[in-house]
Amino acid sequence: MPRANQLAEFALIKRIAMRFGELQNQTVPGIGDDCAVTRLNSKTLQLVTTDLLVEDIHFNRHFASCYDIGYKAMVSNLSDIAAMGGIPRQFLISIAIPPSVTTHDIDALYEGMMQPATQSGTALIGGDTSSSLTTLFLSLTLIGDVKPAHVVRRTGLQVGDEIFVTGTLGDSHAGLCMFQTPPHTRISRAHQTWLSHRHLRPTARLEAGQRLAKNQLATAMIDLSDGLSGDLAHLCELNAVGATINVTHLPISDALRAYAQHVGEQAYNIALKGGEDYELLFAVKPEAVPRLKRWNTRGLLDATHIGTIQPKRQGLQMITPTGSIRPMPIRSYEHFQSSKARPKK
Ligand code: ADP
Ligand code: MG
Repeated sequence: MPRANQLAEFALIKRIAMRFGELQNQTVPGIGDDCAVTRLNSKTLQLVTTDLLVEDIHFNRHFASCYDIGYKAMVSNLSDIAAMGGIPRQFLISIAIPPSVTTHDIDALYEGMMQPATQSGTALIGGDTSSSLTTLFLSLTLIGDVKPAHVVRRTGLQVGDEIFVTGTLGDSHAGLCMFQTPPHTRISRAHQTWLSHRHLRPTARLEAGQRLAKNQLATAMIDLSDGLSGDLAHLCELNAVGATINVTHLPISDALRAYAQHVGEQAYNIALKGGEDYELLFAVKPEAVPRLKRWNTRGLLDATHIGTIQPKRQGLQMITPTGSIRPMPIRSYEHFQSSKARPKK
């Protein structure tokens, strides 16, 4: 009998979903999307998402302030609502506080959470508090809603759909690596600030998610928390399709380019594997592409066309800068890969 932490995270969730996630009402999907979906009434679906953040696994208090930790915890939940095209409404927060955390730290944590919460119209409505013997634990639960006709799921992809991603990829991962192995004196201060900011204060793409949802353009959508290659592989597996990504089209910031050059790695490799981007990965029908491009031009969206959905038998492929087609390496953050805690998610 394998120990729970020997099972890969997706395999563990699948096992739980199959054994205990029996659907009571077949009109809404069960476990497996960015949020749990329940029908409030004929006009509204309720979205609920929850995230558990553990000190030294998901955050490190040596380089993230309590404000940063609260801020990012809120964004990671808002991002799941964004991925379904929803509107966030309320949240609950549970905390387990170790002796090393002061009331000042708790104030900062809440101020950090409230910043993106208030900005998106999300209200604190409750939670729970405990002490902890060792490290800080946070669990956020966010409630939102979406119209049934607008909800975007992880399923719905078809061969020929065009794949897009918002923002830029890999910055957060580079920001984390910079914190873990300083100093990086050959990277300009402005670039360092950008990468660390993208790691500590990501953005939930609520507006983009809602715009796509309202216009019923996205055939499927997921937010990128574990890295493009891993999340795309997961999305393709769910939809029984493959995909080709042109790595020269991946949106990469100047700061990531400078960082990649400094560490002697291809920037696109960092963009493929980097976690915690909290950007939206989605697909649209080919006829919708000109519309998205117009939105981009008018500043209504910031999304880049990176590839195409293919038949399953083609698997996940990438077109490299030399034009050759290769299998895409799938490298993403995996909680149970080793027993050693890593400060990342
Ligand atoms: P995300 O990265 O978008 O937060 P996760 O990979 O954490 O998504 O979760 C994927 C799906 O599995 C979600 O539907 C989530 O609700 C469900 N899930 C995750 N962990 C558990 C668990 N321990 N028990 C039941 N469902 C779970
Ligand atoms: Mg998600």
